[in-house]
Amino acid sequence: MPELPIAVVGGGVIGAGIAYELARAGAGIVLIEQKELASGCSGGSAGQITPGHTPLCDPQYAKAGFAAMFDSRAAFYFEPRCDCLALAWLHEFCRRCVPAWREAATAVLAQLGHFSFDVFQEWKQTLGAEAFDFHDGGRIEVARDDATAQTLQKQAQRLGSHGFTWEWLSADKIAARAPLVTGPTRGGVYYPQSGYCDPRRLTLALASAAQKHGAIIRERTAAVGLREDDGKGRAAVVEICPLHESGTTTGSHERVAVAAVVLATGAWRSPLWRQAGLTPLMEPGKGYHLDYPWPAFQGAATRQHTQCAYPLVLAAEKIYVTPLVPQIAIEGTPRDGFA
Ligand SMILES: Cc1cc2nc3c(=O)[nH]c(=O)nc-3n(C[C@H](O)[C@H](O)[C@H](O)COP(=O)(O)OP(=O)(O)OC[C@H]3O[C@@H](n4cnc5c(N)ncnc54)[C@H](O)[C@@H]3O)c2cc1C
Repeated sequence: MPELPIAVVGGGVIGAGIAYELARAGAGIVLIEQKELASGCSGGSAGQITPGHTPLCDPQYAKAGFAAMFDSRAAFYFEPRCDCLALAWLHEFCRRCVPAWREAATAVLAQLGHFSFDVFQEWKQTLGAEAFDFHDGGRIEVARDDATAQTLQKQAQRLGSHGFTWEWLSADKIAARAPLVTGPTRGGVYYPQSGYCDPRRLTLALASAAQKHGAIIRERTAAVGLREDDGKGRAAVVEICPLHESGTTTGSHERVAVAAVVLATGAWRSPLWRQAGLTPLMEPGKGYHLDYPWPAFQGAATRQHTQCAYPLVLAAEKIYVTPLVPQIAIEGTPRDGFA
């Protein structure tokens, strides 16, 4: 009897990445995506590859988050809501916004940062940098005021103690290296072990490479049911349902026997989680994404035009600016976390 495939549910960067790695290790894969590949968060990300993302459980974020509950224009806005889930999450979040948790989270995220950077270096070899517009020349975090400059320096020192190199750039150096930044700045931090890519193209490149290794990709197909086949966790059945382009169901359900199921459904609260007996431990957040024409090139920039550009973070504003082509991608961080 041929070996059963592994079902990967969710065609974002995580699902496509898992499908690729498992397929090239020799596993049979069925990748199931309810819309199109990269139609979720992965299509709207800033694509920045960071040296251990700054943890949110920082004492200053608890204060900022509380203040922002009353300002819907704040970068770190949480909509005040009187529901148990939101209040319980907020209580836990505030409880953990202490230096000890921040240090512990920094250690974990830094480890993940080193690991991810190595994975990207490998994908650069196996997929080709041009397939996903990958650049590993570093990234700059910009401070416009003294308080933010101090915060950035402290963060850099923390990351420095976890093996990341960094360089403080004066306002003049920021002006030279990041001409996209206008107006006064107090300087910023340059992290060489970081970079960016086009997240949509990365997802498509991973899926296409998985396909070359034999993976089957089912787009516009939702996974709607999940159960153990033999009651002993040795095999499972995924119930899938092809969808019309409008997202409505075609009504024709199929059952696929698989060896294992990987749930890579991102922020989607899929009923599959409940059916698998899992409780998600994280709350999804929301962000926004804007494609902005390159000012100097009337929007028609090519990679050649933008060669010297670094991905940027405007630290106080929490705005991410990534020099993609043909347009600059501008992203903002969480609005409430209880979507
Ligand atoms: C504004 C913004 C900017 C960001 N910037 C960065 C950044 O610079 N760097 C960084 O590292 N991260 C960034 N992120 C985070 C990053 O985008 C996400 O962590 C990542 O894309 C998550 O990938 P995923 O595959 O888990 O989820 P998704 O890309 O959301 O994929 C999940 C997929 O599962 C599918 N799905 C759900 N349920 C089912 C089902 N039942 N059946 C079939 N398919 C299903 C969905 O349709 C979706 O396509 C950013 C996020 C936002 C919002």
